[in-house]
Amino acid sequence: MEDLANKYNLNFVGSIHKPIDLKDFDHIFTLVCKNKLPELKSETQQLKIYEIIRALENDDIEVFYQPQVKLRNRKLVGVEALCRLRHPSLGLISPDKFIDKSEETDLIFHLTLNVIDKAFTDWVAWYNQGIDITLSINISPYVLKFSEFTDLFLTKVAELNIPKNKICLEVTESIIEDNHEVELEALSRLAIQGVLLSLDDFGTGSASIERLHRLPFDELKLDKSFFQHSVTNRTQYDLIKSCVAMSNALDMHVVAEGIETAEHWKVAEQTGCDIVQGYYICKPIEASNISQWCYQWKHRVD
Ligand code: C2E
Ligand code: CA
Ligand code: CA
Repeated sequence: MEDLANKYNLNFVGSIHKPIDLKDFDHIFTLVCKNKLPELKSETQQLKIYEIIRALENDDIEVFYQPQVKLRNRKLVGVEALCRLRHPSLGLISPDKFIDKSEETDLIFHLTLNVIDKAFTDWVAWYNQGIDITLSINISPYVLKFSEFTDLFLTKVAELNIPKNKICLEVTESIIEDNHEVELEALSRLAIQGVLLSLDDFGTGSASIERLHRLPFDELKLDKSFFQHSVTNRTQYDLIKSCVAMSNALDMHVVAEGIETAEHWKVAEQTGCDIVQGYYICKPIEASNISQWCYQWKHRVD
């Protein structure tokens, strides 16, 4: 319950264990009465719309890439494109501070096209250097509502001659809930064309397993929260194993996100995950640093 309360940003003051002792109850009750409402956390505060428009106009959206490595042979198999905003006074801003705001307007559509253009150009440059990897791109459900998105996307892929099965679109699990028919149709069209689909942040929402078959997902990304407590918590460990078994039964491979330590890597390996991604392997880096990272990774011993 403590984990859950923190996850939902509740104002958590403490816990009491069963059997409940009246003194403990009294203590916690006093704490609750004394505790003020939490202030709005500045780390989740969003940029202003005009700041996002200015960034798009000034070409201040930058794309970083986080390597994804196959567990079986430690080989680099893909990268996830993660955008940042270069702010004139605040420096590099993380997407958590401008994606939600962009989704309130058409800005998310323009932002996504901007990320796609940059990521496609980077993919071609890597390919020309002999680095042949899958490029994963985050797609907000709001973008899929734009009827022109699918054709625009496929035209860009064709213009640059990128094989469609080298592009993977990551969508969060809310997409398979009800009332997303338009978005599901757009994704189905892209899947029929051969573009790969990934179900992102699996385990954080309320996606029911029964609905997974609504789209032909190629990949399931297990949310980082699974691994954060997996080393000490047997239930988490068993949950990962069950997710892997379910994914394999549905013909999906599993990416373990948020691998921060050698212990997390071991859990991913023992539970049967296919691919790992996280700070232990590499933080998100600029496109030009990928080839140097590849060299270092090949020679890394740990
Ligand atoms: P996400 O898709 O779940 O991406 C993974 C996030 O986890 C990234 O945060 C990444 O830097 C972070 N991460 C990677 N390894 C580790 C680790 O070992 N430990 C921990 N604690 N975190 C790790 P980032 O780059 O700040 O992105 C946050 C979210 O913003 C992304 O979450 C994604 O939902 C969204 N986002 C990023 N770029 C785009 C984009 O181009 N379009 C859209 N629609 N959303 C984007
Ligand atoms: Ca993602
Ligand atoms: Ca994720």
